[in-house]
Amino acid sequence: MKKRVVLYKRLSPALLAQLEQQVEVTWVDTSAADGLARLRDALPGAHGLLGASLRLDAGLLDLAPQLQVIASVSVGVDNYDIEALTRRGIMLTNTPDVLTETTADTGLALLLATARRVVELANWVRDGHWQASLGPAHFGNDVHGKRIGIVGMGRIGQAVARRAAAGFGMQVLYHSSRPKPEVEARYSARYCDLDTLLAEADYVCLTVPLSAATEKLIGARELALMKPEAILVNIARGRVVDEAALLVALQEKRIRGAGLDVFVQEPLPADSPLLRLENVVATPHIGSATHETREAMARCAVDNLLSALAGQRPANVVN
Ligand code: NAP
Repeated sequence: MKKRVVLYKRLSPALLAQLEQQVEVTWVDTSAADGLARLRDALPGAHGLLGASLRLDAGLLDLAPQLQVIASVSVGVDNYDIEALTRRGIMLTNTPDVLTETTADTGLALLLATARRVVELANWVRDGHWQASLGPAHFGNDVHGKRIGIVGMGRIGQAVARRAAAGFGMQVLYHSSRPKPEVEARYSARYCDLDTLLAEADYVCLTVPLSAATEKLIGARELALMKPEAILVNIARGRVVDEAALLVALQEKRIRGAGLDVFVQEPLPADSPLLRLENVVATPHIGSATHETREAMARCAVDNLLSALAGQRPANVVN
């Protein structure tokens, strides 16, 4: 008999067909009004789950006594209680590597957009304000040749470092759980503690996972260490930054700006005070959101799920 899988993220027709050949699939649209009720109905028979951005609390897991594997279509696994899954004997898989380059691209896009005021000035042109040549009031800051501080020198951090060093001739500072001599050799990068990085960098890019250790890693004290001309780019998770403290730092122009892909509350409410600031570029968690990468992530998750259900060890086991 085929194993049963609850799918809560849409797959391309090709991937869905591949999955349906091997398992029985129940589709649940968790964004629909009755999504949670449907999920609750589907969980009792489920051997596997495949999706993303859903908090599977103990109440939901209790409904799934046969569950063997959750294949998350993400690299970040901060929305899972990993210890609880392990205790229950449920395997968690994720999709690292396939999204690294695209997420690093997003980081550079936010850095450039904020430093060169691309969004603000494009809107200014669209609103009909471009009637004379520009003066210093509309100038941005250089990116090339400046100093970037990368917090979290993992896969994405290294892909950002490569772009910054090779593409923009930037000096790379980094802070991570431990020094990485191979990275230092490759990108002429310098390891330092977080305070030094914040004090010396012109651009600070966050690429750490969200954990108890990194929640509010960047708060009022840390923002106060940054240069007044510095820009913060967050492509990690919203909760790595104390958003209230960031808002104050931006409003009072204690830092130059912020390029933010992730927020404490997502979707970011339309009345968020962050959106009233011209020195903020906010994107809707698009780190990995390209056609190619999202398909590669889904394929990776399907492969992980099918291996686990076949009793093999998937390529990307988290716990
Ligand atoms: P990764 O390879 O595990 O890199 C994370 C790095 O952070 C590692 O080098 C790790 O050190 C370091 N680190 C962990 N805890 C730390 C701490 N407390 N202080 C300093 N450094 C710490 O992960 P990745 O693939 O680069 O992804 C990183 C994160 O990016 C994900 O967890 C996810 O939340 C986020 N992300 C966001 C998007 C988006 O759409 N915006 C897309 C993809 C990923 P070690 O090397 O010593 O372990």
